[in-house]
Order: sequence, then C-alpha cells, then structure tokens
Amino acid sequence: MVWALAIHGGAGAIVEALSDDHRNAVEQTLPRIADVGATMLRGGGSAIDVAEQLAVELEECELFNAGRGAVLSVRGTHELEASIMDGDSGRAGACCGLKTVRNPIRLARQVLERTDHVFVAAPGAEDLAKEWQLPCVPNDWFTTDRRRRQLDEFLAAEQDDRMHHATVGAVVCDAEGRVAAATSTGGMTGKLPGRIGDAPMIGAGTWADTRVAVSGTGLGERFIRAGTARMVSARVELLGEPLPVAAAAVLDSMPPESGGLIAVDTGGVVALPFTSQGMYRAWATGAGIVGHAIGPTIGGP
Ligand code: ASP
Repeated sequence: MVWALAIHGGAGAIVEALSDDHRNAVEQTLPRIADVGATMLRGGGSAIDVAEQLAVELEECELFNAGRGAVLSVRGTHELEASIMDGDSGRAGACCGLKTVRNPIRLARQVLERTDHVFVAAPGAEDLAKEWQLPCVPNDWFTTDRRRRQLDEFLAAEQDDRMHHATVGAVVCDAEGRVAAATSTGGMTGKLPGRIGDAPMIGAGTWADTRVAVSGTGLGERFIRAGTARMVSARVELLGEPLPVAAAAVLDSMPPESGGLIAVDTGGVVALPFTSQGMYRAWATGAGIVGHAIGPTIGGP
C-alpha cells in the first residue's frame, strides 16, 4: 500500500489580503508540518496517530485558526472545538466550547479512546481534560495581536460579516490502507457565545470510514446543513464515484464559495477541492508526490 496525507489550514482566511510575510510564513510551515506526518508514516505510524499529530502541529502554530492563534468570539474570548475519526474502527471523538484546553484535538482523541461517547461539551469537557492531565492554559494564551485586531475590525464594522474564519485539518491513509481524519478550529471571528460549527460535528466537518477520510473548512453552518463530510463518503459508497469526483460534486452542490475540503481514500488517492478563493493546503504520498498551495493550482496531487 502507498501511504498518503493531506493537511489544510483553512479556506476562509484567504479573503484577507495576505501580507508577503504572512504568505511566506504559511508557505514554509505547511510543508514542514506535512513532513512530520510523512516521517511518521514512513516509520509505520497509524493513520489515527498521524492525523492527531498533524492537527496538534497545526494547533500549535499561531498562523492558523486553531489552538494558539484562534479567532475571538464577540465577547473577546476563545471557544475551541475539534473532532477526530478513525475509519478502521469507526470510532470518533469530539469536543466543543473549550476555553483552556491547549490542544483540543488531543481531548477529542481521548474521548475516542477512553469513553463510549462521541461528543463532549464544556464545562464537562474541560473537567475531563484536567482529569486526563491534558495541558491547560489561560484563555488569553490563545490570543494573538492579529486576532485581536480582526475582532476590533469586526465590531467596528457593525455588520454581520464574519470574514475571519478558518480551521485546521488532516486526512491520512497509512501503509496498511487505514484512513483517519482530524479537524480543529476556533470557529469564526465575532461568533456568538455557544455557537458550534461543523468542525467538531462528525459527518459535517469530519468523517472517516473504510473507504475515505474527509476534513472540511469553510462556512460551518453550510457544512452542517449539507452533512458535507459524510456525503462525500456516501457518494463513493452508493454512487461508486471516484473520490475526487465525489468530493467536487458535494462542494458544487453547496452554495457558491462555501469553502473546501481535504480527502483521502484507502488507495491513497488525495482530493483537495475548494470553491473559495483558495485553501491553505499541503500533501505528501509514499509515491513521492509532495506539494503545497494556497490559491488555485494546475495539477496537484
Ligand atoms: N468551518 C469553520 C466554522 O464554521 C470555519 C472555517 O473552517 O473556515 O467554524
């Protein structure tokens, strides 16, 4: 089997004018993080372990809207959410409303591993993180100057225009043909307290089964209404479509510029479609195909 992986750092952030410095930082970071996963897979790492680690790496990087560097809600605080799914076992873990858990994806993984539940919400989710000794930090540890500025602009605009959103995600097919998906986010700048997006919702922002793994990014309410991630798998399963055809068809069935997704199947085929202006993304396969991009590209994996 040929392993394969893809990561994304969100589709929504592309609407902001990227400074050269920011673009350069993103273009250096995406392949570096993809390489962390490639090294794990070369060493025999499992899809679920690699998906989790890739999401941690993205959460730890303040360029992206997850973990440190996450966007701020209308109250000026962070409410983080994440989910992970293992296609081999069909098990999933998800969490939302987190205020202090440094790596939400790690909590999602522990929900998958340690409980019979799928989805936990704060404050109970925060209690579990402490009980399981996951690193916790003050809420303002997640805040960066850039995110504070974006919230100030949002509030000053006095309009319902949540331009700054994004998510991080990873999909992985390991050398044994098992797939997994992980997604983590801070949601949308200026979101209402308690708002939950698609990222932690299994079937909307994240899905993995014995065929495909999917992680989405974009306007979360649309992904929830469309059941986007599960729908990609359903098209592969029920219509027999190749993954790239199914993934593109699902996005095309949604309103224009809804966002994008990354997906991989158990044969190591990668699909990275988006209907937004761009999507931060990188990919690597055991066949030696590697790359990264922000805007539209000709070719790709
Ligand atoms: N889907 C995320 C949310 O709605 C945002 C994004 O991925 O751009 O919370």
